[in-house]
Amino acid sequence: MIPFLDLKKINARYSGAFENALNSVLDSGWYILGKNVSAFENEYANYCGTRHCIGVANGLDALILILEGYKQLGIIKDADEVLVPSNTYIASILAISRAGLVPVLVEPSIESYLLDPNLIEAKISSKTKAILPVHLYGQLCDMDKINAIAGKHGLKVIEDSAQSHGAIYNGRRSGNLADASGFSFYPGKNLGALGDAGAVTTDDDALADIIMAMRNYGGVIKYQNLYQGLNSRLDELQAAILRFKLPALDEENNRRKEIASCYLKKIKNPKIILPYCRNMDGHVWHLFVVRTTERDAFQKYLIDNNIQTIIHYPIPPHKQPAYSFWNELNYPVSELIHREVISLPISPVMTDDEVDAVIECLNNYK
Ligand SMILES: *Cc1c(COP(=O)(O)O)cnc(C)c1O
Repeated sequence: MIPFLDLKKINARYSGAFENALNSVLDSGWYILGKNVSAFENEYANYCGTRHCIGVANGLDALILILEGYKQLGIIKDADEVLVPSNTYIASILAISRAGLVPVLVEPSIESYLLDPNLIEAKISSKTKAILPVHLYGQLCDMDKINAIAGKHGLKVIEDSAQSHGAIYNGRRSGNLADASGFSFYPGKNLGALGDAGAVTTDDDALADIIMAMRNYGGVIKYQNLYQGLNSRLDELQAAILRFKLPALDEENNRRKEIASCYLKKIKNPKIILPYCRNMDGHVWHLFVVRTTERDAFQKYLIDNNIQTIIHYPIPPHKQPAYSFWNELNYPVSELIHREVISLPISPVMTDDEVDAVIECLNNYK
């Protein structure tokens, strides 16, 4: 079986380093908000090119904390609106709801599956305060256009970078392309921990100060609470593990790009629509997503040929029971994408033989 994503193989390469990480944390006797977290925050801020990185518990919290931070700063208030793509992973939308704000769905482009900048302005109302573009599948959104629209209307732009660690746009990395950015280090992401982990990056000093406090019950000094915060900390052990993996991120992303280039060049089947890639710098191929009108049959064919695939994502957010008040609405581009997408195996540990086998199998699909 060619696995969709062999996490065991990915992490086995670091097992020696991980044992050192565990021992150093054990020896320190300090497990929460210690030297590994601050060191990782510095290293990841440097990598992204931002002034600040704040480690948090997961990617969902990273986005919630950014929005809560803007509320504390008086820039956003309860019931204000945030524009978000209608075809994202549910967490981008949940973050907006959780922060007491109203998500307003904007359709993606059918070519890139990313937020369509041409549809943004029609959705802006007097209550709109921010745009939350999602760099879905690892490809960066058209940030020049999005930032220009935001500038014209006085909106904040918050990147959802949970799938785009390391991707580059005009010489700058994901996480440094807007006012603030949320990252997830969930095990399956391009930079993955051995459990839940996340971070916020930003150049905004005031926002960073508030999030530093908000993630730790609302205070940086023990038992002094400036805000009604939450407990959303990156822990020492996950930070130590991420510090070992960060230096290999670019190399791992390059291997993903190599595999994606092979797929793009060699998969030739009229029944399969390949992904659009604006440029290889701006895409780190978290997922390689193709489309077909006969998805069920295609997925079964691949399983019969020992190739594992996953659907990202089978149900559009507006059709989820969690958002029942949207269920009757129509977002046709999103619905088409959710109906037809299927993700092929891609990972830094896939071998050339496995890549060739996937290509051959797809080309033989009738
Ligand atoms: C994974 C993911 C998140 C959430 O990250 P968690 O760490 O799982 O909370 C948010 N947005 C997108 C686009 C994601 O893929």
